[in-house]
Amino acid sequence: MNNWTKGFRTRPAAWLVILIMLAAIGLCSCTGEDNSEKQPPVTANPPDESPDKNQQKPGPPDYQKLGVNELGQVMILMYHEIGQPEDEWCRTPENFRRDLATLYRKGYRLVSLNDYIDGQIDIPAGTSPVILTFDDGSGGQFRYKEDGTLDPDCAVAILEDFYRQHPDFGLEATFFIYYEHPFRQDEYIQDKLDYLVQKGFEIGNHTYTHQNLRTLSRDEAVHQLARHLERTQSYLPGYQVRSLALPYGAYPEPMDHIISGTEKKLSYYHEAILLVGANPAPSPFSKEFNPAALPRVRASEMYTDGVGLYDWLKIFEENPDLRYISGGDPHSLVIPSTLKERVREEAVIGKKIITYNK
Ligand SMILES: [Zn+2]
Repeated sequence: MNNWTKGFRTRPAAWLVILIMLAAIGLCSCTGEDNSEKQPPVTANPPDESPDKNQQKPGPPDYQKLGVNELGQVMILMYHEIGQPEDEWCRTPENFRRDLATLYRKGYRLVSLNDYIDGQIDIPAGTSPVILTFDDGSGGQFRYKEDGTLDPDCAVAILEDFYRQHPDFGLEATFFIYYEHPFRQDEYIQDKLDYLVQKGFEIGNHTYTHQNLRTLSRDEAVHQLARHLERTQSYLPGYQVRSLALPYGAYPEPMDHIISGTEKKLSYYHEAILLVGANPAPSPFSKEFNPAALPRVRASEMYTDGVGLYDWLKIFEENPDLRYISGGDPHSLVIPSTLKERVREEAVIGKKIITYNK
């Protein structure tokens, strides 16, 4: 018998009082489609009936207090070079470390792009997902020194170092490389791609030679995208490239051939297509979610026109209702009851929907 049933049977009167109180302050307003897994609120456990607190089953978080909103917006951050000096498309290692520390301190946790598009956002209650993307496969993203050791000032080393010190931050990022020279050390291409995939990082398409897809013919565009996949799979047999970051943010209209296409029996399918600017992306559970046009936030502080990373951190702080805040359970969707109409039904199949009154 666990503490919940034990407490309930031995002290029914006390429980009744507690349940009435909870109902009165609105904490019982959660509605689940499936109530079988419902746990009692942790605050309802009488302390004198809990000899061993470690054996208690944790109850659901206080959604109201945490401001949980899994229909809130998600920042997909866009980085390019990591190096010196700081510039519009270059972040210094020091500033990159500061970005990670700031995100961590403000309650953001890393989620991979693939998990985001799959709606598998598995982070603690009260925290917010953030996605890191690196375009162009520049040298400062992943560099070995002459002695063969990892350069501690490259993005991969900085991410791993931060993760060692803050394992709950996570270690996720997508690298949108192009060829012939990803990461600018040709002798290490195979080694680096193996390393990234083994660590759980993702590789995305950025066209074969960084072409503007708006100006290419249909056939040329298909060739650029299929050739990228072919080359990537020559290093990583069977690797699924699921996303495309548009060089220059430029896309053709119509764009069906850049979402999927086939050349020489090789087929690509980009489940997510990433733009260049300039605002957070919708929740994958929201009706506004459009994976064929996902906006990104520029992770820099120069020429950001008021919509860079630090601008958005401030906007979210001043408008917490806009921000995705996790309920802590990837099998549930937790939202304020007023947002129920905005749920994208096909994205929450198999998930328990929990609403609460704000
Ligand atoms: Zn690029």
